[in-house]
Amino acid sequence: MTPVATILYIEDDKNSQRLVERILKHAGYNVLIASRALEGIDMARQYKPDLILTDINLPDLSGREITVRLRNDASLKDVPIVALTAQSHAFERDKTFVAGVSGYLTKPVNINLLTQTVEKYLQGHTEEVNIDQLGAAQRAYNRELVERLEANVRDLEASNRSLKRIDQLKDDFIQLTAHELRTPLTTVYGYSSLVRSLPVVQQLMLQHADFHASFSGLVESIDRLHTVVDEIIIVSRIASGRIDLKPNRILLDNLMHSILTSYSTILEQRNQYVEYNEDDWQTALIGDYDLLDLALSNLMGNAIKYTPDGGTIVLGIAVQPDNKLHISVQDSGIGIDPDDQRLIFDQFYTAGDTQLHSTSKTAFRGGGLGLGLAICRGIIEAHNGRIWVESAGCDPETMPGSTFLIELPLTQPGTTALQRGK
Ligand code: ADP
Repeated sequence: MTPVATILYIEDDKNSQRLVERILKHAGYNVLIASRALEGIDMARQYKPDLILTDINLPDLSGREITVRLRNDASLKDVPIVALTAQSHAFERDKTFVAGVSGYLTKPVNINLLTQTVEKYLQGHTEEVNIDQLGAAQRAYNRELVERLEANVRDLEASNRSLKRIDQLKDDFIQLTAHELRTPLTTVYGYSSLVRSLPVVQQLMLQHADFHASFSGLVESIDRLHTVVDEIIIVSRIASGRIDLKPNRILLDNLMHSILTSYSTILEQRNQYVEYNEDDWQTALIGDYDLLDLALSNLMGNAIKYTPDGGTIVLGIAVQPDNKLHISVQDSGIGIDPDDQRLIFDQFYTAGDTQLHSTSKTAFRGGGLGLGLAICRGIIEAHNGRIWVESAGCDPETMPGSTFLIELPLTQPGTTALQRGK
C-alpha cells in the first residue's frame, strides 16, 4: 500500500481553506493548513509535506517569498510547490515561476480538476515556462522584493520610534509615581518610628504582646514599602540609563563595616556566621559610596536570606595584579540552577519556588520583586565592573550554596590612581 501523501496548504482565507481541505481529504490526502506564511514555513520544516499549495497574497510574506525560502532549504528544495491564487495575469504568473514554483493554478478552484492536478504535481510534473519572458519578470520580482523590504523597514522604524516614546512615558510615569509615593511614606515611616519610641507606646508593647506584634508589623511593612519604592526608582533609572554616579574615594573598610553593622541584628537572630579577613579591607577605590553600599547590601541580604539558620557566609576581597578589585559573597544556601544563573540579573526575575525565599530581607510574603540583582548589575556596570554568580545548582536538601562575584576597577576612567591603604 502506498503511503498517503501529505499536502500543506498555506492560505489565509477561511472559505478557500475549507473548500480545498474538503476536496483533498475526500481524495484521501493528509491535509495540513497554515494561515500565515511564517507558520507555513515552520510547518513545512516540521512535517516535510509531499506537496505545498500556497496562496500568493498572505498577511506576512508572499507565496513567492515562501517558495524562495523553501527552495533554499536542503530538506525541502525538491518538494513541489504550487501557487493557488486569484492573480491570473500572465506577468504575475511569470514572477511566481521566477521564485521557483513547480506550478501555477488560478482561483476559483476547479473542484472537478483539483485532485487530478495535484496528483500530477505529486508525480513530479513541472510546468513549461517561456524562458525569454522570464528576464523581465525577474527584474520586476526583484524590484517588488526591494520595495516590500523598504516598506517593512520603514514600518519597523516607525514602530520602534513609537515604542521608544511609549517606553519613555512608562519610565517617566514610574519615576513620578514612585517619587510621589516616597515623600508621604518617608513621613509615615518617621512618625511611626517616633510613636514607637514614646514611653507610653513602649510600655504598651511590653504589656501587650498583641500590640507589640501588630505595631512592629506595621513599622516593618512601612519599611518594606519604602525599600520597594526605592528599588523601583533606582531600577527605572538604571533601565533608562539615567543613573548618575557621584564618585568619591571610598575606604572599603568603612563600607564593609557599615554593611555588616546594618545586618548585625538579623545575623544574630538567625545565628549566622560571617567569615572575613579585615586585612583585605585596607584598600580604597573610586566609586559612588551609596550605590556600592546598596549593591553589596543586596548581595549580603540575599546571602542571609538563602542561608539556613546557623549557616556561614564568606566574604572575600582581593586586589588583583591588574589593579581590579574582586569581591565575593559566598553563602551556604539552596544554590542556583545553571539555567537561572544569567537570568536572575534581569528585572523582575525570581527563580524557582518563592516558598524557598522564606526569610526575605524582612518577611514580605516570601520573596521580593526580583529587582535586587538587576540593581546590583546596573550599579556595578555603571562602575565599569562585572558581576556574575557561580553555583553547582539549586538543591534545598544538600544546600550547595552560591558565590556572587564582582570585579571592579579600583579607579574609574578620568580619575587619578589610588594608593592602597587608608
Ligand atoms: P529580590 O530583590 O526579590 O530578592 P533578586 O534580584 O535579589 O530578587 O534575586 C532574584 C532571584 O535570584 C531570587 O528570586 C532568587 O531566586 C535568586 N537568588 C538571588 N540570590 C540568591 C542566593 N544567594 N541564593 C539562591 N538564590 C538566589
